[in-house]
Amino acid sequence: MDSSFIFIIFMGIAVIIFFVVSGRTNSKGRNVCNRCSGTGEINERWPDPDKAGGWHRAEGTCPKCKGKGRF
Ligand SMILES: [Zn+2]
Repeated sequence: MDSSFIFIIFMGIAVIIFFVVSGRTNSKGRNVCNRCSGTGEINERWPDPDKAGGWHRAEGTCPKCKGKGRF
């Protein structure tokens, strides 16, 4: 076993740790609300036969994140 082989193993471990940590931060804090896309403000309007007037309408503060712009 020479030192370059140990160095390659350490680099592999570092890459694995990097991917594990980045995956955790993505699932936790950096998950942006898909309704407002991180702004907290929404402007939804699409045809909905079940609603009065035939339109689904939601404007202003996102009810999902309450204006925080995130979950
Ligand atoms: Zn939101």
